[in-house]
Amino acid sequence: MKIGILGGGQLGRMLIQSALKYDDQFYTLDPASDAPCNNISHFTQGNFNDYETVLNFGKDKDVVTIEIEHVNADALAELEKQGIKVVPNAAIIKTIQQKILQKEFYKTYGIPSPDFQVVWNSDEKIMMPLPFVQKMNTGGYDGKGVQVIRTEEDYQHLWKEASVIESLVDIDKELSVIVARNENGETNIFPVTEMVADPKLNLLDFNVCPVLLTEDTQRQIDLITEKFLNAVNSPGLFAIELFLDKEGKIWVNETAPRLHNSGHQSQEGNTNSQFEQMYRVVKNLPLADTDAITYSGMLNLVGAEGYAGKVLYEGMEEVLKLPETYIHLYGKTETKPGRKMGHINVLADSREELMEKLVMVKSMVRVIAE
Ligand code: ADP
Repeated sequence: MKIGILGGGQLGRMLIQSALKYDDQFYTLDPASDAPCNNISHFTQGNFNDYETVLNFGKDKDVVTIEIEHVNADALAELEKQGIKVVPNAAIIKTIQQKILQKEFYKTYGIPSPDFQVVWNSDEKIMMPLPFVQKMNTGGYDGKGVQVIRTEEDYQHLWKEASVIESLVDIDKELSVIVARNENGETNIFPVTEMVADPKLNLLDFNVCPVLLTEDTQRQIDLITEKFLNAVNSPGLFAIELFLDKEGKIWVNETAPRLHNSGHQSQEGNTNSQFEQMYRVVKNLPLADTDAITYSGMLNLVGAEGYAGKVLYEGMEEVLKLPETYIHLYGKTETKPGRKMGHINVLADSREELMEKLVMVKSMVRVIAE
């Protein structure tokens, strides 16, 4: 089967890597000539936001999917009309692309998400009491396009673009759950993962699984995933980012209609990974079991501050000597501060051991430039 992927980044790369054991041809589209998928797929250099480019790319494929949601959804809708399978469908991509539509989707389907007000332009009066969070309707990614407004003085920093003004949640834990649905309507839910702040470095970059949750919390999450999967009306793999607040209530922060950073530890930590599951969704195959095998965690390898240029991974040989520790690099030759270059998965017999190992591995490696 000819499978086209919009985006040629690490998510696409790991999907292809995982699916190479089956018999398909992968085609990717990305503006960067050195995108991570370039040398492992039939690669087209081009803009996935451009209508004609996406239409041309998709027209001779059996199925078209995405590894980034900021793509031209109108072109995907046109491809659907022409009989090309698009996973997830254009309508849900469009909804999720726009924070305003996404928030309204949760409201319509009774999925708990923080209270919000829509602001189309800067003349509109904000009714939400301080402190609150402003989220741009479009263009947000990896923490950009999100800001907290705490005081009257902060009002001057408000962005003028159309946004969602959202009440600030008193967060106890940031959780994530990856759900999948195939065309036959079969569904699967991965065990919940948690983004853990490293107490010493105070960086949100460990993702761990499984998470010890109260029965009540798990029940709230089960209800959310059930409602979401019923509402979504499209095959796909979705990452639902959740907040557990200090009073024990679960809120949906946002959903990604694609593979997600919070699912990387499933490569070695679960019976099947999010990448295997995505492949099955794309081909409408029976979904995979996704139980946690043991405690697993992931640490992103991010370009260190102050270094830009040809990448050098310091400390990797020491990491390779560790048991149950798995390095995944994304084939990016150039590092810059904050760029996601790879990740390391770690397995352990207990949560304590896992955290110790993650902190140790983190202290051993650095992503710098030659
Ligand atoms: P992005 O898509 O860029 O990751 P998010 O919507 O996930 O943006 O927001 C980034 C971070 O901002 C979240 O991980 C969370 O820590 C914080 N945040 C977002 N919305 C809220 C909220 N309503 N209350 C408290 N913190 C929030």
